[in-house]
Amino acid sequence: TSEPIRLEDRIRDIPDFPQKGVLFKDITPMLQDGPSFHAALDRLAAHYAGAGIQTVVGVESRGFILGAPLAYLLNCGFVPVRKFGKLPSQTVSVEYALEYGTNVVEVHKDAIQPGERVLIVDDLLATGGTVSAAMELVEKLGGHIAGIAFLVELTFLKGREQLKGHDVFALIKY
Ligand code: IMP
Repeated sequence: TSEPIRLEDRIRDIPDFPQKGVLFKDITPMLQDGPSFHAALDRLAAHYAGAGIQTVVGVESRGFILGAPLAYLLNCGFVPVRKFGKLPSQTVSVEYALEYGTNVVEVHKDAIQPGERVLIVDDLLATGGTVSAAMELVEKLGGHIAGIAFLVELTFLKGREQLKGHDVFALIKY
């Protein structure tokens, strides 16, 4: 019998990226290994089997890489949350704070119906600022946040505390 795939072996540390003093978790080695990518998606999908997810919301841009195949596996639709100015139709938007300055994310107004059970997906949970903005967008449209999923959670940054009251799941924790 073969050993279970250890996804954490394929997440690499990049010191001083994108700026000095930051230790960046790079998920691209995991993505480029077929069996690892497959296992990651299967594990995420297994966690939400039977949860009645109706829509997967992926956060630009690494949330798209995981969110789209996860939507496929859960047999539901995929909705992109994008950076300002990228979506062509009518949008709602949310501004959120970065370490320096602010960022704006948007979603199409007609992308989520009131009461729809939504799973929000991103690659990594750090402070929780990014995913909180995505949550605000879903809530503005009346969607029900049924879960929030990540490949990686940096637990020492305590982003989870911002997501209190929600079902938060991460495949790998540091
Ligand atoms: P937060 O808003 O502080 O939780 O940061 C999470 C967002 O920044 C996610 O969209 C991630 O893609 C990105 N991010 C922050 N730190 C890292 C990292 O170490 N590796 C990969 N992405 C990161």
